[in-house]
Amino acid sequence: MLKENVQEGINEQIRHELYSAYLYLSMSAHFEDQFWKGFAHWMRLQATEELKHALRLFDFVLRRGGLPTLKPIDQPPASFTSPLDIFQRALEHERTNTGAINQLFELAISEKDYPTRVEVEWFITEQVEEENTAEEIVERAKLAGDDRGALLLLDQQLGGRTSSD
Ligand code: MG
Repeated sequence: MLKENVQEGINEQIRHELYSAYLYLSMSAHFEDQFWKGFAHWMRLQATEELKHALRLFDFVLRRGGLPTLKPIDQPPASFTSPLDIFQRALEHERTNTGAINQLFELAISEKDYPTRVEVEWFITEQVEEENTAEEIVERAKLAGDDRGALLLLDQQLGGRTSSD
């Protein structure tokens, strides 16, 4: 059985994951609108991945006999500037999310909730991947700079993403 404060912490993280999906979907809409088709595709898969993260925690709460309570999700930003700006914001967002995951991990430890600790460990590993991927894209967008041809090549490359894991 989940302690109430641990359940509350996981429900809060479900909200974070759903907001992440919202944010990346909004970024995807912007990219579609600007004809950056590859970036739009990548962001759409990223949104799907975040939804899976939310569902993973949702199912975990249920398996532990708890109740996932869905909270209001903030409206994500809808106006953006350059692809570099967007990927920098995505990276910042992932770093913030890592902080939230770490807090949840600390709560699981202080409450001696070992199953939650093991579950959140998966997310800690996942965040290393998320940050690393976002950092790489930011660095490559910086290398492209104002060179449209280089940015289109990066767009094409990210458009080849096939997995939402
Ligand atoms: Mg996530």
